[in-house]
Amino acid sequence: MKKSIIILFNLFISCNIFSQNTSQTNIILMIGDGMGLTHISAGMYSLNNNTALESFPFVGLVKTHSHNALVTDSAASGTAFACGEKTLNGTIGINPQNKKIKSILKHSKEKGYKTGIIATSTIVHATPASFYANVLSRNQYEDIALQLSQSDVDFFIGGGRDYFTRRKDKRNLIEEMSSHEFVYSLKKFTESKSNKIGFLTSLGDPVPINQGRKPKLSNAVEEVLSKLSSNQEPFFLVVEGSQIDWGGHKNDINYVISEFKDFDEAIKSAINFSSKNKNTLVIVTSDHETGGLAITGGKIKRFQIKTKFNTIGHSATMVPIFSYGPNSELFSGVYDNTEIFDKMLSTINN
Ligand code: MG
Ligand code: ZN
Repeated sequence: MKKSIIILFNLFISCNIFSQNTSQTNIILMIGDGMGLTHISAGMYSLNNNTALESFPFVGLVKTHSHNALVTDSAASGTAFACGEKTLNGTIGINPQNKKIKSILKHSKEKGYKTGIIATSTIVHATPASFYANVLSRNQYEDIALQLSQSDVDFFIGGGRDYFTRRKDKRNLIEEMSSHEFVYSLKKFTESKSNKIGFLTSLGDPVPINQGRKPKLSNAVEEVLSKLSSNQEPFFLVVEGSQIDWGGHKNDINYVISEFKDFDEAIKSAINFSSKNKNTLVIVTSDHETGGLAITGGKIKRFQIKTKFNTIGHSATMVPIFSYGPNSELFSGVYDNTEIFDKMLSTINN
């Protein structure tokens, strides 16, 4: 009897049903585009004074300026934390000396990591593109799509199918990417047995969540995490709550709050995964603040808030960073956005 229990136990360990068995550290990097401290505060009060960020043990502050501007854009800031160098506003994966620089996603691939990217903008937008593309202008969407098709990211979910199939060069990148299966719903994504899947959620920009965007970011994160953790290799996953920024540009507080809520639920999913898979580092940060948002009044009853925007552009304020899991202590303090790359690199090189 005792022996059969031991055999069963060994079988359980070797089958590894409930968790990965890798000594390397998984990384989930979550970026709220344009999410300053006030966006978090506004979202938190609007969620009855709650946010998933309260479960993070370490918090820091990040300087966001680019190589040539105090106020950064998403291309330069994305490049800073994806590739470790400050560059010119508008530029992705190329430094001010015109040299292509290698992203943390590519470093992680070289270390045997599986990779994933999820965005609620198009997949070729500046923030996700910073992890796989090298282009002088963030507006080269068709070039960026071509570089994604050649980059071998294992799983990706985001909008922008037209950049792959309705191109000036008449190429059909979906047909060219024979390594990947392409699906058109999260259900099909889940059902797929392929180990490389692309899900282009819309032809152009995905709509805001309060206009019915599907899938919810949390659901996408859960499905991609289940694919990424189904084998023994570690993984690097980037998740962007892209449209918090767009709400800021529109000076629309309800847009900001609804996108924050979608992002906050995805953070909850990541924390839930990390609490069960202890070798998983979760980092949540932002690329810059958008809108110069302030909470100028409100009512303590039901945490109603009154807000004011100062600009339709970005601002140069520092943004917070939160971390959970192995190596999370590295991310406390006050430092440049390029150091996020350094800290992630030292984590995958462990
Ligand atoms: Mg973005
Ligand atoms: Zn923006």
